[in-house]
Amino acid sequence: MRKVLIDAHTHTVASGHAYSSLQEMAQAAADKGLQVLGITEHGPSIQGTCPLVYFKNMHVVPRQMYGIRILMGCEINILDTKGTLDLNDEYLNRLDIAIAGIHDVCWQGGTKEENTEGMIKVIRNPKIHIISHPGDGSAELDFEAMVLAAKEAHTLLEINNHSLAPLRDKPMAKANNLELLKLCKKYEVPTILGSDAHVSFQIADYDRLLPLLAETDFPDELIMNFWPDRFFDYLGIRREG
Ligand SMILES: [Zn+2]
Ligand SMILES: [Zn+2]
Repeated sequence: MRKVLIDAHTHTVASGHAYSSLQEMAQAAADKGLQVLGITEHGPSIQGTCPLVYFKNMHVVPRQMYGIRILMGCEINILDTKGTLDLNDEYLNRLDIAIAGIHDVCWQGGTKEENTEGMIKVIRNPKIHIISHPGDGSAELDFEAMVLAAKEAHTLLEINNHSLAPLRDKPMAKANNLELLKLCKKYEVPTILGSDAHVSFQIADYDRLLPLLAETDFPDELIMNFWPDRFFDYLGIRREG
């Protein structure tokens, strides 16, 4: 595999169920040779996560640490089939990077069509950069419609390493992520691998995804983790902090 330079989706102690500090995460990312690290704490609907004022106060954090670009963001919860988010624009405007995803504990689903409609609204929301773990099986979704919408909106659908951990018991994750990869390859849509690290040792760990990438013969050119310049341009994120 080519050298991974970006891990956009990680959590620190501020998320309540993760175990490393911001500085420990940044240091570990620098040690692994990354150029960009996203710190994306859970949005307010996840029990035990940081209070809203955390997101307001992020201006105090240096956006360069140990020689790498730090993106301070949030993993926002998608709450329902209307695409309602648990963080409003006042907060979204302050984020360097905005990831949105479905989490069982705060999700009111509907039919596959309804779920997809809400998801596509989020994909088209210009403030959202990445959809976290769409393949984890939390909601039935039409992946083809999502991939096409993502291509048009320049939103990345994440392929999440953490969903494939056996302990997480997400039986659909493998088949779903394979399908997402096949569709991204077919329609030439870039994707991003997400470690979803909840401790510094998991940063840029994509080991569970390697067999899926091999099975689909997935092109390196479509994996944004390898291409920081393209990542910033495609998502409209500033290179400098
Ligand atoms: Zn978490
Ligand atoms: Zn998540």
